[in-house]
Amino acid sequence: MSISDNISRVQERIRAACERSGREPAEVTLVAVSKTFPAESIRAAYEAGLRDFGENRVQEAEEKAPALADLDITWRLIGRLQSNKVRRAAELFQWVDSVDSEPLATKLDRALAGRGVRLRVMLEVNLGGEETKGGFREDSLPGAAETIGKLPWLDVQGLMVIPPWKENPADARPYFRRLRELSERVKRKAGLEMRHLSMGMSHDFEVAIEEGATMIRLGTAIFGER
Ligand SMILES: *Cc1c(COP(=O)(O)O)cnc(C)c1O
Repeated sequence: MSISDNISRVQERIRAACERSGREPAEVTLVAVSKTFPAESIRAAYEAGLRDFGENRVQEAEEKAPALADLDITWRLIGRLQSNKVRRAAELFQWVDSVDSEPLATKLDRALAGRGVRLRVMLEVNLGGEETKGGFREDSLPGAAETIGKLPWLDVQGLMVIPPWKENPADARPYFRRLRELSERVKRKAGLEMRHLSMGMSHDFEVAIEEGATMIRLGTAIFGER
């Protein structure tokens, strides 16, 4: 299967999941997770109509981006950002979907102040309480969102989650539902607009759409096994 065939099949599945849940496919942004895949694969996905690409490492994105400078790509960082790479990340990415601490948010804000461009960010939530994953704990999120929401150069657009791995995608549903409920609580407490929920990967994106995802992050389903 080619990348464009994979994308057609994914789009069909997005349509079906939207239909089941009374939603419009236009409400769901397909983010192509291109980590480990070369620039040519990204170009093929772009030619098939995708515009949002997610990378989990700053250096890898920096290596690929120059070969794709002629394309109107929205680059999104979806992996953990080390504080020594904040400045470089702020230059390359239009979105950071994985803001996972207040100090990181503050550093990003400072790095952006000199450039005069606001960065769109998502706050990553660690709903499973897993030690190996980054993200805000559920109880600390409302306060943190309120603080981060006041930083002038960050535009908080929503929440992101990577739930604990479940063999059966249906078992991820409670996490997706919790993220949506948490988002409603944070919006009220922090007075933020937060329109987006980034949840669902190749394995479970249909369930995430049924639970209100506005962004799904797919690697394997588009580019193949890593
Ligand atoms: C790799 C990755 C994905 C994509 O995973 P697939 O299972 O290949 O779809 C999504 N989100 C994050 C944060 C990732 O690191």
